[in-house]
Amino acid sequence: MMPKSPRIWQLAERRYRLLGSKCTVCGKTSIGPRSVCPVCGSEKIETVQLPSTGKVYSYTVVHMLPAEKDGYGPYIMAIVELEDGTRLTAEIVDCEPEDVKIGMPVELAFRLIGQESEHGIIYYGYKFRPIISRT
Ligand SMILES: [Zn+2]
Repeated sequence: MMPKSPRIWQLAERRYRLLGSKCTVCGKTSIGPRSVCPVCGSEKIETVQLPSTGKVYSYTVVHMLPAEKDGYGPYIMAIVELEDGTRLTAEIVDCEPEDVKIGMPVELAFRLIGQESEHGIIYYGYKFRPIISRT
């Protein structure tokens, strides 16, 4: 029997979807909000829901850690190519640096990035994790 996701996580997934901007002239899709197409310069941009799965296009293992990540690394930064061809830079989680491979299928995994101590604000960012084949 598959374990059910906690309700809080279901809500989080609904709230933190991966949104991108699509140029209606040339069809270029990129992550995040844009007002001008980086390819053709068009301003005819619409917001689209990006696929939540893709593959590792390239990656690098980061050993030098910024001070706020002290004790955290090393970690994997990858260029992920989504199923629609959109490429974005994201951290790969739930994977050891020696296990990551070019072309490895990955899926979106929202993770806690940090906590604003002064105001107690928790914020999340998009990361990716390997899709484990359950065969
Ligand atoms: Zn364009």
